[in-house]
Amino acid sequence: MTDLPATAALPEPVGLCHLPTPLEHAPGLEKWLGGPRLLLKRDDCTGFALGGNKGRKLEFIFAEAQAKGADTVLTAAGLQSNHCRQTAAAAARLGMEAHLLLLHMVQREDAAYRDSGNVLLDRLFGATIHAGEPGLAPADQLAALAQTLEKAGRRPFVIEFGGSTPLGAQGYLRAAEEILADAAAMGERVDHIVHASGSGGTQAGLVAGLAGRADAPKVHGISVLRTDEGYIDDILAIALGAAALAGRPAPTRADVRVAFEEVAPGYGEPNPATLEAMAAAARTEGLVLDPVYTGKGLAGLKRLVATGTIGPGETVVFLHTGGAPGLFAYPSLYA
Ligand SMILES: *Cc1c(COP(=O)(O)O)cnc(C)c1O
Repeated sequence: MTDLPATAALPEPVGLCHLPTPLEHAPGLEKWLGGPRLLLKRDDCTGFALGGNKGRKLEFIFAEAQAKGADTVLTAAGLQSNHCRQTAAAAARLGMEAHLLLLHMVQREDAAYRDSGNVLLDRLFGATIHAGEPGLAPADQLAALAQTLEKAGRRPFVIEFGGSTPLGAQGYLRAAEEILADAAAMGERVDHIVHASGSGGTQAGLVAGLAGRADAPKVHGISVLRTDEGYIDDILAIALGAAALAGRPAPTRADVRVAFEEVAPGYGEPNPATLEAMAAAARTEGLVLDPVYTGKGLAGLKRLVATGTIGPGETVVFLHTGGAPGLFAYPSLYA
């Protein structure tokens, strides 16, 4: 296929991350996986505000916020949100105010969950934290908050859940190209890309970036949040919007592969396979995963190998989406 030029609607990213991130062979973890060749895409090394996948999306979203003249950003997510942490840091760097609506999504009440990890960092970055009201839709609360700020003379800009819009997904549309280019330079052919999936923008961007390519790897999102089939449609909708925005071929529903087995017992709650995957990464590679996203992502990859969806003789890229700061909200996991 030939790449069409990007549409004029696409803003220039503000430049927060250290890119490209490394793509590296992981022989120890590959042995544990027991089948395919394993490469790690280290988006835990995007650098900005301790790294993670939200940086790539926020580079585009903050470009739009700035183009609209905003001086304040608002966003909502779970208490230990990596998205909120990186949003707070981006606002600080760009001289803007951040308001975070932190929601009670996980039944954990201990001091570490409440005050350490990403919450500590949100405060360090100077964000204003608002507690989510149970029973009220977060979008309505954000809208009310934006109105109050506007009355006070601020110019607020609301960032969607996880930054997962067609614009935010451009970050992963470009990351897909980065993966293919770096793999080619290493003499590797990539058959699969596997990663933890939450609000869906990461997967949507990857799918949009790979659609229409003859050498496209299969993208497998490991859900950590939703268990309904509508999730696939929601990811596809973002991917279609992202492809249109970038002037690329449209992906199809078949391009959006989601595994739901790792969600249990629920968002923000690791299961035994999560903890085993985290320990394997730590003890074979010195690689830090987290109990909410990447631990479940790697456990999902292990399951795809065990069920034969990913075969020996194939090459898989595990996209490390970050999240390690959240580990410190779970101090007793390996006690
Ligand atoms: C947000 C997040 C994800 C999921 O990305 P989405 O684009 O929301 O699907 C995966 N891993 C980590 C560490 C995250 O913070």
